[in-house]
Amino acid sequence: MNPSKETAYLPAELAQLNPNAWTAPFWAAAAEGRLRIPRCPSCEAIRMPPGPCCWRCHGTALDWKEVPGTGRVHTFTVTRRAFHRALAGCVPYVLAVIELDDADGARVISNVVDIYPNDVRVELRVEVVWDRAGEAVIPRFRPCGDRGESGPDTEDYNSGISRLESHDVIRNESYFGVRGRGGQGDRDVIA
Ligand SMILES: [Zn+2]
Repeated sequence: MNPSKETAYLPAELAQLNPNAWTAPFWAAAAEGRLRIPRCPSCEAIRMPPGPCCWRCHGTALDWKEVPGTGRVHTFTVTRRAFHRALAGCVPYVLAVIELDDADGARVISNVVDIYPNDVRVELRVEVVWDRAGEAVIPRFRPCGDRGESGPDTEDYNSGISRLESHDVIRNESYFGVRGRGGQGDRDVIA
C-alpha cells in the first residue's frame, strides 16, 4: 500500500522521527508502505520493541518480518481535549493499541482514522493506512470490515462500553477500555 493521504491526520510538525539503529528498518519499510516488525531469526520470537538480544533464546541477530497490516483494536482512548495548542483543530482523535495479525500478539500504538470516535470498539477489525506527515510516513489504522480468524465475540462487552460512554466519558473527556484476560473475567477501567 502506498502513502496516499496529502493531509496528515495529526499535525506534521509533531511527527519528528529520529530513527536509530533499532528503529530505522521499521521507518524505511513504512516509507515504502510496508509494515515490518522485528523478529529473532533463530527462534522466530517477535522482538517488539527491538533490543540487543532475544527475550527467548538470547540470540543477538535480528531480522524484520513483513506483516499484512491488519489487526484488531486491543484498547483505545478518545482524546477530546487538546493537550497542546497544535492539536486544537484535531480533537477528538482516537489513540489505540492495535494487536497485529500474524505477529504473535505484537501490538502497536497508533490512531484509528476514518471513523467517528464514538463508533470505535474493542475488537474492531482494522487495516493499516499510510499517513504522510511531512517527511515521515506513519502507520495509522482504519476499519476494514473483515472478521479476522475468529470474529468479534464482544457484543456484551461493547454494550458495557456504550453505557460507560453515556456517563463517565463526558465527565472524564477520555477513557480506556481494558479487557481482562484469564480467570478474573472482563473488566472496565475508567481513566
Ligand atoms: Zn530468539
